[in-house]
Amino acid sequence: MHAFEFIRPKDPAAAVATASKGKTAQQGADVRFIAGGTTLLDLMKLNVETPARLLDISRLPLDKIEATPEGGLKIGATVRNSDLARHPMVQRDYAVLSQALLAGASAQLRNMATTAGNLLQRTRCMYFRDTAMPCNKREPGTGCPAITGSNRTLAILGTSEHCIATNPSDMCVAMAALEATIHVQGPKGSRAIPIGDFHLRPGSTPDRETVLEPGDLITHVTLSPPVEGSKQVYLKLRDRASYEFALASAAIVITIAGDKVTRARIALGGVGSKPWRSPEAEAVLDGQPATQANFRKAAEAALRDAKPRSENAFKIELAKRCLAHALQMAATV
Ligand SMILES: Cc1cc2nc3c(=O)[nH]c(=O)nc-3n(C[C@H](O)[C@H](O)[C@H](O)COP(=O)(O)OP(=O)(O)OC[C@H]3O[C@@H](n4cnc5c(N)ncnc54)[C@H](O)[C@@H]3O)c2cc1C
Ligand code: SF4
Repeated sequence: MHAFEFIRPKDPAAAVATASKGKTAQQGADVRFIAGGTTLLDLMKLNVETPARLLDISRLPLDKIEATPEGGLKIGATVRNSDLARHPMVQRDYAVLSQALLAGASAQLRNMATTAGNLLQRTRCMYFRDTAMPCNKREPGTGCPAITGSNRTLAILGTSEHCIATNPSDMCVAMAALEATIHVQGPKGSRAIPIGDFHLRPGSTPDRETVLEPGDLITHVTLSPPVEGSKQVYLKLRDRASYEFALASAAIVITIAGDKVTRARIALGGVGSKPWRSPEAEAVLDGQPATQANFRKAAEAALRDAKPRSENAFKIELAKRCLAHALQMAATV
């Protein structure tokens, strides 16, 4: 691994001030925050990330889970994934989030992984992680060998001719269905970013994955008060039963009154270049009977714009079945 300076900022303001001297907060960053280290250290060992300075934020006071005055939830940036998944309020009111977290990685990794680190985990595309290969995300302008190469696990929604990488997070998919808000403290002050605006599609700049700028420190995430009577499910389909990333997943937050869907929030994982909220599927279900036929129609709508490559066309039907089945599970919770 390359040489780097390891710094423990005394408070969030000091962390922001030091990080703001970096030239980018995206790929190629020369200053990086480190929390659990389960993404960053792997990539440093592979020379995919080569920051000159590491700012250890794991001991900053950003590790609380608290109710908000409005009845929602405030989740600190350094809250560990295992603590979040097991928190009584999360299990009771945001079950989809608990289920998504517990479907991710392994118990040991979840004990280290943090909320903010999970929001910023990087793609598992094999070319991105291999510095002997070209990759537009790692080295802009070098090309995307995945488009004609090994792309079985890669994205079918929101891709571009420059990058077809999948966002691998489970937690973010649940947060997309819960319409989470990400709170950032930066050199110019604090701001709140809806999760739908936080991650970027690759377009012609796949090296740019989020709206974060140098110095931006995620301090916490908030969730709105739970919708009364909502039913929630996270369903993850993968090559093996545990310790594997999603080939397709679905996060459902749905309210049914009588036999009709009165509110649906739907997001997909494993298939999108970012955590993939589907307003198309939500619109199909709005006000309609909660039937298997309508769940399948919603799934068809969600995947209408899917663009498969040489090895991943199977994901279209897989994702449709995943979504339709998750809706059926939610309807019968
Ligand atoms: C073998 C393996 C299997 C896995 N399987 C899954 C899986 O099935 N599903 C899944 O969802 N995930 C999976 N993961 C990914 C795991 O969830 C992430 O590695 C973890 O959530 C990252 O959190 P961290 O705190 O360790 O991040 P770090 O590695 O510390 O940081 C990651 C990135 O976030 C930045 N960062 C961290 N905190 C902040 C902050 N407060 N503000 C701004 N930037 C910040 C860092 O600078 C870095 O760029 C797996 C990981 C491994 C290694
Ligand atoms: S899909 Fe994206 S991350 Fe993978 S090789 Fe292509 S540009 Fe790189």
